[in-house]
Amino acid sequence: MFVDVHCHIDQYGDYEMVNMKNVKVVVGAAMDYHSGEKLLSMAQENKSIYACLGIHPEYREHYRQMDMVKRQIYENRENIIAVGEVGLAHYSIDELDETCKRKAYEESLYILEEFVRIAKDIKKPIVLHAIEDSAYDAIRLLDQYGVESALFHWFEGDEKALGMIVERGYYVSVSPDVMYNRRYDDFVNMIPIGNIVFESDGPWEYEGRRGMPDMIVEIAKHLSIRRGISLEEIEKAAYENSCSLFGVIF
Ligand SMILES: [Zn+2]
Repeated sequence: MFVDVHCHIDQYGDYEMVNMKNVKVVVGAAMDYHSGEKLLSMAQENKSIYACLGIHPEYREHYRQMDMVKRQIYENRENIIAVGEVGLAHYSIDELDETCKRKAYEESLYILEEFVRIAKDIKKPIVLHAIEDSAYDAIRLLDQYGVESALFHWFEGDEKALGMIVERGYYVSVSPDVMYNRRYDDFVNMIPIGNIVFESDGPWEYEGRRGMPDMIVEIAKHLSIRRGISLEEIEKAAYENSCSLFGVIF
C-alpha cells in the first residue's frame, strides 16, 4: 500500500489525468490560500486525497496572505492532516546579494515560526521545505515549540542535520529524483528505513517526466534494489511510517 506524502495535486490543470492507480493516498500540500481552498474541496470529494494548508516558502509574494491562511487553518483544523508546505526560502533567494538574501531569509524564518506555533497549537504535524543548512533553523524552531511530528520533504543536506532529524523521530520523504541524481541517491541511502516515506512532489518534472503519485512505486523499487531488501519490506515500512507521521491509519 503506497502513500504519496507530498504532492501538489491541486496544481494539475487536468486532475483526471493524475496517475494514482497504485497509490492508496495522496497528501496534497498547499502553495498558498487559493491552492489550499482547492485542496480542501478535493479532499472533501475524494477519500484518497488529504489536505495540508500553508504558504510555500519560495513564493515570498504570498507571505502577505499569512492572516488569511492562519484563519483558513483554524477554520478547517478538523479537515486537514497537517500544516504545509511551509519552511524556509532557499532557491528563490539564491541570486540576491548578501544583504537582501539575509533579509528575505529572515522573513521566511519569521513566517515559519508562526506556522510552527500554529502546528503546535492545533496538534498537527508540519510538512517542511528546509533545504540543506536551513534544516538547522527549522529543527531549532521545532525544538523550541516542542513539535512532535514533522516531515522534511525532499530533504537533502549533511549527515549531521539528517542525524538530528532521525534522533527526533521526524521523517524524510524521498522524491523520484533519487532515480536520476546520483548524489541525492547516495544521500538517501543514509536515511534509516524507519524514517523514510515517499513523495512525488508532483507535478514537478523529473528529466522531462511529469511527476505523478504513481512514481513512488518506482522509488520503492529503486530503494529495494539499492538496499538489497524486498519491495514488500520497503513498502510496508514506508506505509507504517506515513501513518505514524500523520497520526492516522490510511
Ligand atoms: Zn512541494
